[in-house]
Amino acid sequence: MHLDAKIPSGPLAEKWDKHRFELKLVNPANKRKYNIIVVGSGLAGGSAAASLGELGYYVKNFCIQDSPRRAHSIAAQGGINAAKNYQNDGDSIWRLFYDTIKGGDFRAREANVYRLAQVSNHIIDHCVAQGIPFAREYGGLLANRSFGGAQVSRTFYARGQTGQQLLLGAYSSLMRQVAAGQVTMFPRREMLDIVVINGQTRGIVVRNLITGEIESHGADAVVLCTGGYANVFYLSTNAMASNVSATFRAYKKGAFFANPCYTQIHPTCIPVHGTYQSKLTLMSESLRNDGRVWVPKTPGDKRPPNQIPESERDYYLEEKYPSFGNLVPRDVASRNAKTQCDMGKGVGETGFAVYLDFADAIKRDGKEVIEQKYGNLLQMYEKITASNPYEEPMMIYPASHYVMGGLWVDYNLMSNLDGLFVMGEANFSDHGANRLGASALMQGLADGYFVIPYTVGGYLAGTSRPEITTDHPAFTEATRYVTERTRKLLSINGKRTVDDFHRELGHILWEYCGMSRNDDGLLKAKTLIQELREEFWENAVVPGSSEDFNQSLERAGRVADFLEFAELLVMDAFERKESCGGHFNEAYQTEEHEAMRDDENFCHVAAWEYKGDDTDPELHKESLVFENIELTQRSYK
Ligand SMILES: Cc1cc2nc3c(=O)[nH]c(=O)nc-3n(C[C@H](O)[C@H](O)[C@H](O)COP(=O)(O)OP(=O)(O)OC[C@H]3O[C@@H](n4cnc5c(N)ncnc54)[C@H](O)[C@@H]3O)c2cc1C
Repeated sequence: MHLDAKIPSGPLAEKWDKHRFELKLVNPANKRKYNIIVVGSGLAGGSAAASLGELGYYVKNFCIQDSPRRAHSIAAQGGINAAKNYQNDGDSIWRLFYDTIKGGDFRAREANVYRLAQVSNHIIDHCVAQGIPFAREYGGLLANRSFGGAQVSRTFYARGQTGQQLLLGAYSSLMRQVAAGQVTMFPRREMLDIVVINGQTRGIVVRNLITGEIESHGADAVVLCTGGYANVFYLSTNAMASNVSATFRAYKKGAFFANPCYTQIHPTCIPVHGTYQSKLTLMSESLRNDGRVWVPKTPGDKRPPNQIPESERDYYLEEKYPSFGNLVPRDVASRNAKTQCDMGKGVGETGFAVYLDFADAIKRDGKEVIEQKYGNLLQMYEKITASNPYEEPMMIYPASHYVMGGLWVDYNLMSNLDGLFVMGEANFSDHGANRLGASALMQGLADGYFVIPYTVGGYLAGTSRPEITTDHPAFTEATRYVTERTRKLLSINGKRTVDDFHRELGHILWEYCGMSRNDDGLLKAKTLIQELREEFWENAVVPGSSEDFNQSLERAGRVADFLEFAELLVMDAFERKESCGGHFNEAYQTEEHEAMRDDENFCHVAAWEYKGDDTDPELHKESLVFENIELTQRSYK
């Protein structure tokens, strides 16, 4: 099957303008005739629902939480990129485009990434107009800081709470539309299936998480903005409710899942401290603007950090990558931390940690300046670890954090299923094999504020859809499937908790499909996952009933999906016989232990098609064509 990304023709810089002109428009009066479902109310979903409502469409917006303000986006700390060049340090749309393609190890589509860089500047203007309190310089201009994989300062931020502030902006716009009657909010609903009729996506089936009722909702188009699946690793920096269920159920209805093995391990998280821990805490990459990463030069050196003299410290990132230093991209920083710990140079009780040290920055700029920049992050660290980062170096270690894989979408952000759009972290689009810091917020808001308002109109105006109601047999069938699955989960009556299965799944993935992978390990993981899944359906315990608020049931459904999805993730990793970005297969590395791509055979998007529970999925490939950037070995030296 040919996967058509529908990339417009013409010069790169003119594609988006040209495409917007060529897309059919829906006239203002006709917009009222269309209903659009947006699932998810994070930065991608919130911005999309608000923008579509403002345009005049009728929007139904669904989310798991009790309020859109509690979407996982609220956790984003460090910032959002844009090519404003306020620092006059050489930034441009082209440089942001180039850095993002290179950061993703040349595994993203040029046209999508260029559009993202173009639109990035509009996002900042839009958010400033909404009143987002971005940090400012003394003179009043917006301030910037640096993030990994860039040699310019292009990251806009609101202390360590950028996601929260941006989400409040999107939420205000959303609530304006709710008040105007354009958007209807459906909080506490979990989407459990999509409904496809004659090849067109026409609705969803959700469970009301308070009453347990299964509801059907029809629409002219469905926009999935349900976030990422990093929680498949069990321990991650994501919110507890982040899941793969919505995208995985869409996959089972025919939407292709792209690059599931592209997962991001973030280098700076508070290290794991115990078996029964359920969450990991991110320490924003922004800290590496001023914090210096180091380990003792001698393996096994257990002296407290302040007793290790300068000459006996290994600032391995500065040493190995003098141009980018501590701000190398995440995949590179994470792998290097692992290498140091594997060499016995890790610190702390477990030996799985490296130092992030602010002593020099405090000496240079003063404690007050550091506190102003990162105060809330350092306070969070101290609360969790009971160690004062102003006085002794922080301890950090890589953790599962973000996913570049997601549902396959074309240039219009539409999946291979007509009328099913996918945005934000839920799609696979812009980050290739590794996402640069501060680019996820940029992508989510680009998709929601500036791409979908045009492309959904093009779809609605360019296709015809028969009238349907939720009495249609396709809704009845989806409802039956969801009800039956719920019943099955509740009737397992086993002995082992769902969390325990999830924890074991996380161990398998971390061990065999984490920061480094090899073919034997991946094959082993596949078998272990299958065995674990079998045991789950025989021995899991899911208490309570389906007719009221039952978080055990919610979790069981999500873990059941993770147990199926994990196998797809591992298969995708096995199939990609190269290393690129976050996907590091030990068999493919340069002499300096960097990821070694195989552009001749793997310069493609791997898009998987579901073929049935007992049949392997089918792999489709979308070739990536680079007309503007030369493919090179990525170097941050
Ligand atoms: C700790 C942390 C810090 C980060 N910091 C940064 C940063 O500084 N800069 C940056 O660019 N990126 C950062 N990121 C990444 C970024 O926050 C996320 O990629 C981004 O917020 C995802 O937005 P989203 O709208 O796609 O999804 P989310 O914000 O995850 O929203 C998902 C929405 O979908 C809903 N949902 C999910 N499943 C279902 C379902 N089945 N049915 C109904 N609703 C459903 C949820 O209720 C929610 O409303 C960070 C990530 C983490 C974990």
